[in-house]
Amino acid sequence: MLIRVVVTGAGGRMGREVCRGVLHDPELELAGAVDVRSVGADIGDLIGERPVGLRVTEDLRRCLETGQASVVVDFTNSQACMGNARLAVRFGLNLVIGTTGMSTREIDELHTLAEEQEVGILLAPNFALGAVLMMHFAQIAARYFPQVEIIEMHHDQKLDAPSGTALKTAELILSARGEAPGAKVQEQERLAGCRGGNYEGVRIHSLRLPGFVAHQKVVFGGNGQTLSIQHDSLSRESFIPGVLLAIKEVGRLRGLVYGLENILNL
Ligand code: NAP
Repeated sequence: MLIRVVVTGAGGRMGREVCRGVLHDPELELAGAVDVRSVGADIGDLIGERPVGLRVTEDLRRCLETGQASVVVDFTNSQACMGNARLAVRFGLNLVIGTTGMSTREIDELHTLAEEQEVGILLAPNFALGAVLMMHFAQIAARYFPQVEIIEMHHDQKLDAPSGTALKTAELILSARGEAPGAKVQEQERLAGCRGGNYEGVRIHSLRLPGFVAHQKVVFGGNGQTLSIQHDSLSRESFIPGVLLAIKEVGRLRGLVYGLENILNL
């Protein structure tokens, strides 16, 4: 049976790629395309292909009432995402969330919503397989190299900083390395922010420039050696296989699952 998918943020950069992926996947059917922009446009036209007879709507509720969807995929922004998630869960639908920038409190709320309504929510800050492996390798390296800094580089339209991937990487490193190494010198930051953000002892540096898509380098330092683990998403296509896998697996999940690695058998 086809999995019927509603995409919120369908007119955005990621949303359009997700719609294209869903339309080309024989196991999936695009049941709705929701966005506050491009309303009324045929989603086929919007992705540069032939019209498919499905128009962008801004009314998610109506779309869910009429669409017989089973999964909602959200790539909007952190403000819109929570409203969409509450509505989707109220309809008993499973959710795949790629939107980043949500607070810990909002993620806790998603946890509670999923448990209460007995649905599956897969929230992943990064759907690129290579990025998930980069985080996995960083977690292993942190056991041997406790001193580490993260540099993440994104296009200049990205709203949140640091990236969800950088925060997740820092969390994985913290869980693997145990106690933080003490400072070796008393640093003086002569320009505020030069040493980056400090996430419980892991420094994160965020670059925002045109030309970048999504990139991250995790640099470990040891005596007489460094180890760098780098991943580059060169186009948004890199996220789509992970999103399609999540759509197919989320129906088997119950509660909130945070991270694509949980369905990859690493
Ligand atoms: P984008 O191009 O700005 O797309 C977001 C779209 O959602 C826009 O068209 C926006 O319209 C629309 N929108 C805003 N409020 C909405 C609502 N209430 N209902 C429906 N649509 C709404 O952004 P993007 O580059 O595609 O990124 C979207 C999100 O995905 C960001 O949080 C980004 O960090 C994240 N992301 C995640 C991954 C991952 O692998 N997890 C990868 C890439 C990006 P307006 O512009 O008019 O507000």
